[in-house]
Amino acid sequence: MIVILLGPPGVGKGTQGARLAEELEWRHLSTGDLLRDHRKRGTALGDRARSFMDRGDLVPDELILDMVRDELRELDGGVIFDGFPRTLPQARGLDRVLDGLGRELDRVLVLEADDEVLVKRLSGRRRCPGCGRTYNVHFDPPADQGRCDECGDELVHRADDDPDTVRTRLEVYRDQTEPLIAFYSSASVPVVTVDGDQPMDEVQEEIQEAVTGDDAGDGEG
Ligand code: AMP
Repeated sequence: MIVILLGPPGVGKGTQGARLAEELEWRHLSTGDLLRDHRKRGTALGDRARSFMDRGDLVPDELILDMVRDELRELDGGVIFDGFPRTLPQARGLDRVLDGLGRELDRVLVLEADDEVLVKRLSGRRRCPGCGRTYNVHFDPPADQGRCDECGDELVHRADDDPDTVRTRLEVYRDQTEPLIAFYSSASVPVVTVDGDQPMDEVQEEIQEAVTGDDAGDGEG
């Protein structure tokens, strides 16, 4: 099965996508994670993506599509796309890649929450650079302020989670990514909306139902 997880920044796509992938033994393909990895490794792509990411803008479609094509040379089993596609050209590009692989998109899941909730979540988000565990100073703080419970490393705040950049990222989502919901609905791909402003376990449960249930899809988002 191939599923796209859509939703504004901060709604929990990364956490929920990773959990779903682990549960179902699927591949979790997050373009944000891939780009951060390129930056860490200092690749040419990472260097080109840096300024767009730090401003909260989208990285150009061609760079993203090349990166995704590279990742999808082989595609067995289930995949959950997280943070991709984010524009109509990316959605069309994904269609072509899947066509070439003889695969089809099965579902689009939309995680939603109000902007107010998203801003608070993103501004409170912290990550351990050592083990990758994430925290939120408002909702899920570490026991020892500023340090990871698992490995004791000092937690970091993503540069693109500062308030101005967060506002840009939300605008970019509403302008460029949200129209994909209508695009997929009109292409008759089942679109299921899940309320992202609920306890994490409940969100995960609804996502799993939406993915594995027979009656998934309201066709409207
Ligand atoms: P994320 O972790 O998904 O919030 O992505 C972090 C940043 O990486 C975004 O704000 C964009 O600058 C960039 N990015 C990630 N995925 C994409 C994509 N599919 N298209 C364009 N830019 C992306």
